[in-house]
Amino acid sequence: MDATTAIPTDLPAAAAVARRDAAVRAAVAQGVVGERAPVAALLDVVGIRRSAAALRSAFAEVTAAPVLHAFAVKAAPLVPVLRLLRKSGIGAEAASPGELALARAAGVKPSHTVLDSPAKTPAELRQALALGIAVNADNPQELARLDTLTRSAPTRSAIGLRVNPQTGAGSIGALSTATATSKFGVGLRDTGAREWIVRAFLDRPWLTRLHTHSGSQGVPLDLLAEGVRQVYELAEEINHLAGRRQIDTIDIGGGLPVNFDSDSETPTFSTYARLLQRTVPGLLDGRYALVTEFGRSLLAKHGTIVARVEYTKAAGNRRIAITHAGAQVAARTVYAPESWPLRIAAYDTEGRPKTGGAVAQDVAGPACFAGDLLAENRPLPLLEPGDIAAALDTGAYYFAHHYAYNSLARPGIHGFASGTDGQVRFATIRSPQTVEEIVAESGGEHLRTLDVL
Ligand SMILES: *Cc1c(COP(=O)(O)O)cnc(C)c1O
Repeated sequence: MDATTAIPTDLPAAAAVARRDAAVRAAVAQGVVGERAPVAALLDVVGIRRSAAALRSAFAEVTAAPVLHAFAVKAAPLVPVLRLLRKSGIGAEAASPGELALARAAGVKPSHTVLDSPAKTPAELRQALALGIAVNADNPQELARLDTLTRSAPTRSAIGLRVNPQTGAGSIGALSTATATSKFGVGLRDTGAREWIVRAFLDRPWLTRLHTHSGSQGVPLDLLAEGVRQVYELAEEINHLAGRRQIDTIDIGGGLPVNFDSDSETPTFSTYARLLQRTVPGLLDGRYALVTEFGRSLLAKHGTIVARVEYTKAAGNRRIAITHAGAQVAARTVYAPESWPLRIAAYDTEGRPKTGGAVAQDVAGPACFAGDLLAENRPLPLLEPGDIAAALDTGAYYFAHHYAYNSLARPGIHGFASGTDGQVRFATIRSPQTVEEIVAESGGEHLRTLDVL
């Protein structure tokens, strides 16, 4: 945010909190969460629409060039959400056959879809080229495969090459895509790599895009912008040597980090767009079309996991609330709590924000291993049986990524919005998994299959 525009309070954040509180209250009243559904996930439809609009206007303010914002499907692989985003002018970035199928089921047009997986099979490539979906090749072998495929069948697909600017790691190793040894793309600083990339483009007139995705949560903004700058410089060099504008589109990836510490949505898309304007002005002067691939920053703040507190107790002087949300809905937080701390909000049995002095307590999940904790020693109003513990900012990479430990059911996911009468309405995005489905998916349909061996 501009230092000069001092805003007294964060009004959008306050509005988002009010929507969330109303939704939790209504979820309890309407039985969306309760004894029969002890854990559920809520998505704020108004918030998602606002983020989509904020992303589009942030880039429209810094460039007149065409920009395709392709949502990274892996952040929320849910068909109704992809459709909601599509209706808000956002396309899809897919990285597997499943994600591509979800985008197609949501009606995302091929021309608004980008395929990025590092391990695309020949069949996947053929399908993408037949549909006219943009493809970013990850490595020289994939490019060789594309040589053969494009020779055997003409395609409308735009084809690009992913480059790793090797600008360095952020604070979370597993999410740092631009280290020297990252598995993604062609490492730009490796010996001979730059020359190889330039030659690859000059030899292939149909190769018209450069792609980078140089970060995710934990990568500072200026490192992201520096990665984009390096790829822009490379595009300029290639076009100069080609003597024409062979590269017409630069795909800058996603990776805008999310603030998990409070309700304020920082950094904003606008902050990042203006940083790009300062760091890489040439990128935005209209000569290049752009593709972005944001995931977490579009969805994270709009999701809430609500879980009933089943029991409370104390052990070794530590208070513990046993809830129905643990590793199955928040695997990253449970296994890597240092990197992925989540805020927890306490609501009472009727879904009203709990007041009262903070007491340090563990917020535990239902899974049978000791580390299944959403929060450890966290000061919160004392949770009691029947209360609701809410894990905030979980709209991306959390409940949609179920972890099937202990055969715990996938919770239902519900979109919410208030009607003109002020009442909160819910719509099912994903049905809760039933135990019958768990049995069937766990080989139930092959009951006797081992008898014959
Ligand atoms: C995961 C991923 C994204 C989205 O990253 P976020 O941090 O969720 O914005 C975009 N592009 C590629 C290639 C990715 O792998």
